[in-house]
Amino acid sequence: MAYQTTNPYTNEVVKTYENATPEYVEASLAKAQKLYKDWRNDPVSTRIPVLHKLAQIFRDETDSLAKVLTTEMGKLYVEAQGEVVLCAMIADYYADHAEEFLKPRHIDSIAGDAQLENHPLGVLMAVEPWNFPYYQMMRIFAPNFAVGDPIVFKHAAITPGSAVAFEDAVKRAGAPDGALTNLFLSYDQVSEVVADKRVQGVALTGSERGGTAVAEVAGKYLKKSTMELGGVDAFIVAHDANMADVNAIAPRARLYNAGQVCTSSKRFIVTANHYDEFLASLKDAFASVKLGDPMDPSTTLAPMNSKKAKDKLQAQVDEAIAGGATAYFVHDAVDSDGQFFLPTILTNITKDNPAYGKEMFGPVAQVYKVADDDEAIELANDADYGLGGIVFAGSAEYGAELASRIETGMVYVNTFFSSLPELEFGGVKKSGFGRELGQNGISSFVNQELVVKRDHPNDDETGGLILPHKFS
Ligand code: NAP
Repeated sequence: MAYQTTNPYTNEVVKTYENATPEYVEASLAKAQKLYKDWRNDPVSTRIPVLHKLAQIFRDETDSLAKVLTTEMGKLYVEAQGEVVLCAMIADYYADHAEEFLKPRHIDSIAGDAQLENHPLGVLMAVEPWNFPYYQMMRIFAPNFAVGDPIVFKHAAITPGSAVAFEDAVKRAGAPDGALTNLFLSYDQVSEVVADKRVQGVALTGSERGGTAVAEVAGKYLKKSTMELGGVDAFIVAHDANMADVNAIAPRARLYNAGQVCTSSKRFIVTANHYDEFLASLKDAFASVKLGDPMDPSTTLAPMNSKKAKDKLQAQVDEAIAGGATAYFVHDAVDSDGQFFLPTILTNITKDNPAYGKEMFGPVAQVYKVADDDEAIELANDADYGLGGIVFAGSAEYGAELASRIETGMVYVNTFFSSLPELEFGGVKKSGFGRELGQNGISSFVNQELVVKRDHPNDDETGGLILPHKFS
């Protein structure tokens, strides 16, 4: 059975789900397409109340919704509650701003009274990951619901309960039939849905591997796509950084969500004058985390999402060490059958090490020593990915100068990385293309239709140079 909830703390198989039948997929696409046609006649304002109601459901039911997340992918309950509240904020944000973002834009033109109107594009296919099962869904659902694009989605095989809970909340918020449909699809079925002529756009959040596979199909069938993929984000400690701030933020930047965040700081790049202090402090912080039941408020590090993910990370760490890296710190073993990965700090990673430039999706910090800030930037940019990043420097201005030199999608200076509804999210290079959230996040799947109007044809004052010739 492909879709299955397994609690990674207890290893209990909680529930298994049947794959979607071809008939159900067809009926779902037909419903979505009909809704798209209806929605083309309805103003954005008609959909806003549903988004506010959805936000209210996420606020009212924070605890029960959060429990679904902790049960099936293991995150700390407090982090799960935070994710649910963030979803409410995103739904409210687009409810509050969608009409303004989607208003037509007037264009001064000699052709006539020109405006760019924002219309729905059509049915979208979303493919989403397990690490933030609701938040990733809300990032794509809220803006595109406001636009008027119905969505069918495939969630990760290990988070089917979150998929069902999200779809159910949307229905209870009053969204019409077909607005959002969960489909438990095989990879081949995903390709078929992407190829379907009713589907006009594809949004995927996940790994480079998953992104490449789905983007290839989208490209083949000329479907617009956005790809939110992985990263090896740099955390730069500049020569003049405030080390009290650095030491407070660095462990959180790596260990939040058990290190399974696309924008986790995966490479700490530290100037030589701070290197020893940084390592000692990170080691103390990693040593002091408490691994345990993610529902227990005293636990500070949750298990990983699955045995498969834990084994993959262990293999990466083993290869890194075999390739010459030093395991500077490994947390003491825990007495639990949960899928815990012991927080680990790797140093001495040379360019030829298998771990160099690779995404390690869990509580493993790679720490690099550099001579100065220029070398830090050079190392940060020596990566195939460019998603986020953090810079700590002596002043916000100098930190921002360094930030602008990093080839990446998002950088935070002298603070932790956070994702909020109003802030555009996305990357460059193999971290993908397109942006979610913020004002740009609502424009990815919009038909920007140009309409030029006048009462009578205009005179061609350019003598046929730009506008069509007169034939009489
Ligand atoms: P993944 O394996 O690519 O899975 C993501 C989604 O894609 C899942 O629903 C998965 O389904 C599906 N998928 C994978 N291969 C597919 C294929 N060939 N055809 C159709 N669907 C396919 O990613 P993951 O390892 O679970 O998630 C972690 C990755 O996501 C990390 O690299 C992380 O950095 C990245 N991420 C990026 C962002 C961002 O916004 N940039 C946010 C969060 C996570 P199954 O579960 O059935 O395999």
